[in-house]
Amino acid sequence: MEFLRPTTWAEALAAKADQPDAVPLQGGTDVMVEINFSVRRPPALLDLTAVPELATWSGDGDRYRIGAAVPYSTIIAELGGALPGLAQAARTVGSPQIRNRGSVGGNLGAASPAGDSHPPLLAAGAAVEVESRERGVRTIPAEEFYLGVKRSALLPDELIKAVHVQPAAGPQYFAKVGTRNAMVIAVCSFAVALHPAERRVGTGLGSAAPTPRRALEAEEFLAAELDWSAPLEPALLARFAELCASAAAPIDDVRGTADYRRHAIAVLARRTLTWAWQDHLERRAA
Ligand SMILES: Cc1cc2nc3c(=O)[nH]c(=O)nc-3n(C[C@H](O)[C@H](O)[C@H](O)COP(=O)(O)OP(=O)(O)OC[C@H]3O[C@@H](n4cnc5c(N)ncnc54)[C@H](O)[C@@H]3O)c2cc1C
Repeated sequence: MEFLRPTTWAEALAAKADQPDAVPLQGGTDVMVEINFSVRRPPALLDLTAVPELATWSGDGDRYRIGAAVPYSTIIAELGGALPGLAQAARTVGSPQIRNRGSVGGNLGAASPAGDSHPPLLAAGAAVEVESRERGVRTIPAEEFYLGVKRSALLPDELIKAVHVQPAAGPQYFAKVGTRNAMVIAVCSFAVALHPAERRVGTGLGSAAPTPRRALEAEEFLAAELDWSAPLEPALLARFAELCASAAAPIDDVRGTADYRRHAIAVLARRTLTWAWQDHLERRAA
């Protein structure tokens, strides 16, 4: 197996263009497991850990740009205020060791329906910045990025450079059901992001369909029915939960049945919206 180690972004793009079957390596917390268990044996590994610009984030009042290699531990320590949904999801990933190595870029690269960063990115309306040597930069909205189980819109000669997310305009929550509290792949997960100025609520479902996805009907329902100055009506909350569950298209597997997943999505949707709404009303009252 060849081992390529570019030290600049231009070199990394050139290596991927010349050898599209080279597998990018960021934190390695997915790639190395797959190699160790002989799930894949790529002809070449493209180690991106020496490309400095991937490891930094920047942000202002309008937009945050998180380099593909920024680890979960940095997101937790430095971005919890601006991007609370993503930071909450990051806190649930693996163990401290995995959070020190694993990155949102790697989560996107793997495009697993169970990846924890996907629901908050969908709920917040994030976009993925990818680049190739031949065609330059493309910015792909998160909802167009996931195409199938572990399949994304990334083309063979492209690399993920960063993810762009607007700072939270309102309360955000992420919740996950697993067979235990830590070191577990989500049975299902859910994220909610309030956008009070737009009178809109964003959603993201994880591990509940072939791809992470938004519950669009549920979002449209809230946009039409919510009174942003009043407590949540129980009937409205119940209908929101029901529409989120019906947006799921889960499977039965060793971690849970499709029925359980649908039920759990409804519970998480109700729970996270309740938390977010409480924060929203408290902020209005303050
Ligand atoms: C013990 C353990 C626990 C885990 N727990 C969780 C969990 O709770 N939640 C969760 O979501 N995940 C979990 N994971 C999976 C993994 O940690 C995450 O998916 C992590 O985000 C991967 O990031 P990485 O930087 O290590 O990616 P890598 O392993 O380096 O890469 C992952 C994939 O992305 C591709 N890739 C990486 N960088 C780029 C790039 N710049 N451009 C294009 N493609 C790229 C790689 O080729 C590969 O296909 C766990 C893994 C382990 C081993």
